[in-house]
Amino acid sequence: MNKKGRGLLIVISGPSGAGKGTICKSFLERNREVSLSVSATTRDPRKGEVEGVNYYFMTKEDFKEKINSNDFLEYAEVYDNYYGTPKSNVEEMLENGVDVILEIDIQGALKVKENTEEGVFIFILPPSMQELKQRIINRGSETKESLMKRFKSAYKEINFVSKYNYAVVNDKVEIAVEKLEAIIAAEKCRVDRIKDSILDSKEGIIHEQLYD
Ligand code: 5GP
Repeated sequence: MNKKGRGLLIVISGPSGAGKGTICKSFLERNREVSLSVSATTRDPRKGEVEGVNYYFMTKEDFKEKINSNDFLEYAEVYDNYYGTPKSNVEEMLENGVDVILEIDIQGALKVKENTEEGVFIFILPPSMQELKQRIINRGSETKESLMKRFKSAYKEINFVSKYNYAVVNDKVEIAVEKLEAIIAAEKCRVDRIKDSILDSKEGIIHEQLYD
């Protein structure tokens, strides 16, 4: 383990349209030492998306092979495609003391919660259901039918908030990002996380106070 201690695993999810992508992007611009885990997906790249930056794009066959060899920390089927978090990349960053964000859907977040003992689980909420509907409409890429489908599933997904440690309402992006920063700062002060390093360095602290 590196001297800084293990990095923080930060899991961010929420219903479609709550704005988790926007919040994560803005958070990462302000906190460059934090890494975003790059997921694997079987969906086609969208315009401007880059292999290894936005996603690792792969075929369903390759994805299933990786499932069988237990390469994913979690994976889920979202809108007819597979999405998964490569386990070794995340483990390596955490081991090197780097804080890692997983921006994943709710099914995936719940699997991470089941499979690991670490993780700070943060749920992003829209300011209101009306606002959520408007945001989904504003994306403009939906037919009326798929819009209703997304909205209904978002409505149900909000019930999962009780499985998370923190909920952040995304009314203004900047304020939501500040809340995210405050959560992470608080998590880093948790005694159960840092007590070993405090106790290990206790002699040093006492020495400094008494003799320096
Ligand atoms: P999109 O296709 O718009 O990039 O993503 C669709 C959904 O898949 C989003 O809710 C996104 O958070 C989720 N997602 C992206 N990567 C992963 C992943 O590795 N695992 C899971 N479970 N969901 C993911």
